[in-house]
Amino acid sequence: MKKPFIIAIDGASSTGKSTLAKGLAIALDMVYVDSGAMYRAVTFYAQQKSWLTLNGLDEAQLITHLDDIQLSFQQHKLYLNGVDVSSEIRSMEVSNAVSQVASISEVRAFLVAQQRIIGATHSVVMDGRDIGTVVFPNADLKLFLTADAKVRAQRRYKELKEQDTTVSLEQIEANITQRDHMDSTRDDSPLRQAKDAIVLDAMKYNVSEMLQHVLELVKQRKR
Ligand code: C5P
Repeated sequence: MKKPFIIAIDGASSTGKSTLAKGLAIALDMVYVDSGAMYRAVTFYAQQKSWLTLNGLDEAQLITHLDDIQLSFQQHKLYLNGVDVSSEIRSMEVSNAVSQVASISEVRAFLVAQQRIIGATHSVVMDGRDIGTVVFPNADLKLFLTADAKVRAQRRYKELKEQDTTVSLEQIEANITQRDHMDSTRDDSPLRQAKDAIVLDAMKYNVSEMLQHVLELVKQRKR
């Protein structure tokens, strides 16, 4: 079997990682894995079970029951125990709690193991926060996307408006700032640029320019 080719895309929230990752997966016929969706699904599960409420998170219950959580991607939709939760995991309730859940080492170990299994047998484009540093430190190509917080909030606002939610730009900005802070300051696998990652300023490119640019980088790596 040919060795899988791995592209790791990391960066703060709403820098356009998943748009780029999806485009690459289509252009290169690779599997796309949105690792953030996996953390969101675990968060949604904890909320469904009432282990995560406005009063806090029952970490012990969540950790004990991690093995009850089955995740699978089918045609870019995420199924949690057989149910498509792709829209539910984008709610503000999930967005506001996901970084807390993602800071739990047991949750990370549980999801990283699954992410590595996918990469062991498939050529994968995976986006997240720790893909180039922790999940696939030997990835064939590592990218780190950056953009100003204001630009990122606008981007997310536009996306959510298309889905017709009532959330305000201010709420989104607050959520992005809070998640970036928690994600980059947690002890386990904080958001970091891998030493060998190529940094791309997402504000310099439109979607198709960014895709073309990265396809060129992939060509160079495959030579
Ligand atoms: O990518 P997205 O913004 O949907 O990710 C949601 C959250 O999941 C992040 O804010 C972060 O807390 C967590 N996450 C993570 N590690 C990853 C991907 C996402 O901790 N590889």
